[in-house]
Amino acid sequence: MSVQVTSAHVEALDPTRGVLVGGVWRAGGSGSFDVVDPADLSVVAQVSDGDLGDATAAVDAAADAFVAWRRTSPRERSVVLHRAFELMIRDTDRLADLIVSENGKSVTDARGEVVYAAEFFRWFAEEAVRPHGDYGSSPAGGTRTIVTHRPVGVAALVTPWNFPAAMATRKIAPALAAGCTVVLKPAAETPLTALAVARLLTEAGVPDGVVNVVPTTDAAGVVGHWLADPRVRKISFTGSTRVGSILLGQAAERVVNASMELGGNAPFVVADDADVDAAVAGAMVAKFRGGGQACTAANRFYVHADVVDAFVERLGAEVERLSVGPARSGATVGPLISATAVETLGRVVDEAVRAGARVSHRAELPDAPGHFFAPTVLVDVPADAAILDHELFGPVAPIVTWHDDEELLRLVNASEMGLAAYVFSRDLQRAIRLGEAFDAGMVGVNRGLVSDPSAPFGGVKQSGLGREGAREGLEEYTETQYLSVDWPA
Ligand code: ADP
Repeated sequence: MSVQVTSAHVEALDPTRGVLVGGVWRAGGSGSFDVVDPADLSVVAQVSDGDLGDATAAVDAAADAFVAWRRTSPRERSVVLHRAFELMIRDTDRLADLIVSENGKSVTDARGEVVYAAEFFRWFAEEAVRPHGDYGSSPAGGTRTIVTHRPVGVAALVTPWNFPAAMATRKIAPALAAGCTVVLKPAAETPLTALAVARLLTEAGVPDGVVNVVPTTDAAGVVGHWLADPRVRKISFTGSTRVGSILLGQAAERVVNASMELGGNAPFVVADDADVDAAVAGAMVAKFRGGGQACTAANRFYVHADVVDAFVERLGAEVERLSVGPARSGATVGPLISATAVETLGRVVDEAVRAGARVSHRAELPDAPGHFFAPTVLVDVPADAAILDHELFGPVAPIVTWHDDEELLRLVNASEMGLAAYVFSRDLQRAIRLGEAFDAGMVGVNRGLVSDPSAPFGGVKQSGLGREGAREGLEEYTETQYLSVDWPA
């Protein structure tokens, strides 16, 4: 493998830049590609570019390893996952540094992501050993039914760039706990963190071939190849609804078990009786964590007419205080992932302004070459403005004013997306009633963060199928089997 790295800083963190197949780090069949720091546009590393040969080799290794891995005891798998948790925590700073280098998020957000990512290993280490099954008799008697759950098989995992560690561990941990082996394709923008996590798994004692990683610039080729391989029995994807629906189509051809965590368009609702300071604090997390580049990010704000002025004034003051810039300089909001993301967001904001919205507050942009976008608050946004249908994936908060619950629910549920939603009200019963009426898989009640390894993460409508985390996250990697046993009286 030829490795030319222009950033000594990142190279010092982790020299592993290859394709990982069967425990061996090898050069990818298509040469290598650059990983670019979105904060200063420098090349931080060159990573092997996997081809279809690597894709096949990864499945060969995963299929071979599955034979023994599925037979390991739950306790053995649990011990390995516990070790993986401890190693990730041990390496928090190193992993956060990698995330900052390839994704650009703030150091606080990057550290928070590593801990969140590690927690999936701990949660599923604990879940792996919980008894799971059923034993009963048929209604007519004469038959005993034994229900068990077995690993679905080799799982293809496809992850995005916005949470380079957590999206990988949220899939790898339950897969391994269930007894599956995996082939992982990280996003080409952010492969370094996934490769580092894979290396830690080896250190934790994961046998060769159980976790294989193919970084590649040919996402469609490699993933399509996996979905056409009869040995691959599962696809778990996190990314856009557009790509998710392509993969569902491919999975349908071989009836492959599919979990899809797709786009969001989260409403952030502030009721007339909300604690406005708490709502602003929640909004800062829901909107600006990771620069707004999260599928759970608050995407459209619905603020009651009685409190909208106070909310906008206080949110605006917080937004103007945000420091935008390279994370290593201590900034709280880093760059967007690409120049295209900056252009698209700028266009969407301009369109909203043409439709009648007004920029009430804006943070300052740094004088730096990265893909920065100034955090922006938009007020007087018409309820039918196109910006409210667009997954912004950036630090822009469009605010719509509402007057009554019926109107609110119509606006909230008009979206084809249904991942996260947020509601703020001092009346908890009212907040829960509203939350239950939202078409969303997850609702933050008086808080701006819903992600938690012990809770089932996922969406309704076009936001996806299946859940990650919690007991449900493990079940995504198992299939139910029952044995019907003749049992004469
Ligand atoms: P985003 O807009 O967040 O980049 P994508 O859905 O484009 O979301 O990407 C999420 C993941 O899906 C990445 O790993 C990407 O490389 C991969 N991907 C993109 N296009 C395809 C495709 N046609 N087939 C399979 N994977 C794809």
